Amino acid sequence: MTEKVYYFDSHIEECEAVVLSCEKTKNGYDVVLDRTIIFPEGGGQLSDTGYIDDVRVLYAREDGDIIVHECESEIEKGKKVRVRFDKGRRLDMTQQHSGEHILSGTANRLFQATNVGFHMAEDYSTIDLDIFLDEDKIKQLEIEANRAVYKNIPVDIRIVDEAEYETIELRKKTKGLKGEIRVVRYEGVDSCTCCGTHCMSTGEVGTIKITSSIKYKGGTRIWFLCGERAIRHYIETQKIVDTIARRFSVKHEDVVSAVVRQGDELNDCKAQLKRKSTELINYRTAELLSSCEAINGKKCIVSVEKDMGMADLKQLAEKICSSEKSVAVIFSVSGDSVFYQLMRSEGVKLSMRELCNVVNVTLSGKGGGRDEYAQGSSKNIAGIEDSALQILNYLRNVIKNA
Ligand SMILES: [Zn+2]
Repeated sequence: MTEKVYYFDSHIEECEAVVLSCEKTKNGYDVVLDRTIIFPEGGGQLSDTGYIDDVRVLYAREDGDIIVHECESEIEKGKKVRVRFDKGRRLDMTQQHSGEHILSGTANRLFQATNVGFHMAEDYSTIDLDIFLDEDKIKQLEIEANRAVYKNIPVDIRIVDEAEYETIELRKKTKGLKGEIRVVRYEGVDSCTCCGTHCMSTGEVGTIKITSSIKYKGGTRIWFLCGERAIRHYIETQKIVDTIARRFSVKHEDVVSAVVRQGDELNDCKAQLKRKSTELINYRTAELLSSCEAINGKKCIVSVEKDMGMADLKQLAEKICSSEKSVAVIFSVSGDSVFYQLMRSEGVKLSMRELCNVVNVTLSGKGGGRDEYAQGSSKNIAGIEDSALQILNYLRNVIKNA
């Protein structure tokens, strides 16, 4: 059995111990001591990291009543050693864990909500509650939880036996616990059985910030940050709001309305652009069809447009082919590329897939499609007008001889 020196006081930073065993593993060495200050992963809390003398401890796990330290190098069995943990990480983990107690206890007191899940990650923590809490209740929970922090209530950690365990009142009681049971209490805030490390008083948690909440499995999942994590979140969030406020030249409190207003204006502009674009396509369709003689009752339209998007390009081809019996090959030069769309009217037999192969060869481009419709692109924009003329002549010959 490994003695847990951290069990009653999370502030004890070092302890002496004796190495009971050291076994080589795939990635390092598993070291067991007679006692330790290193907290192993458990109860939702992540493992400490630290040192045994100068040997790095990367992770610790519980194996029955033994704590196994996963170390980088070998340590001699029987050696007397000093054990210490990484203080920054321990404080951070302890703050998140104690914050979870405060939030769970407060949610239970205010709304009779039961904590049914807890997860701590390297950069966030979540609590799952069994009932749904709306935005107002989440706000109330956050304020009340922080009031519990200001009260600086000391932690009370006690070991009780099974008989006493049955008689005491706790927020959450786990059935079937045997032997020595560790009960953790912040008076008036929270009480439950727990194996983690705890702030010696609620004030050490510093700050509790709920960053998000969603409906989850009929209840609520809450994301939260405590201590320095919360402060860093405030700093980052303020930076974001500052940037948006400067961009819009408004005060912080007017940021939301400024963004909404710009979104509305953008939607109006998009609608207006679509109307203008349709008008332009109608005009261009009429222009291209009127300047073209029909061959065997079909018009051959080959046109080079400037900076026309693929959707507009397709709309133009469709408009031409639906207005008069025709074949349309429309190019759009945009930047260093040329895009093309090929379309035929209903009843025209010529395959656009085959015609696209001719365009691909002429422009060293890539493209394909079906008999009714094809598209492609090329980087060969030099001499595009000449290439378009070549394709027009080819198309006229094919239609004439069909
Ligand atoms: Zn705990």
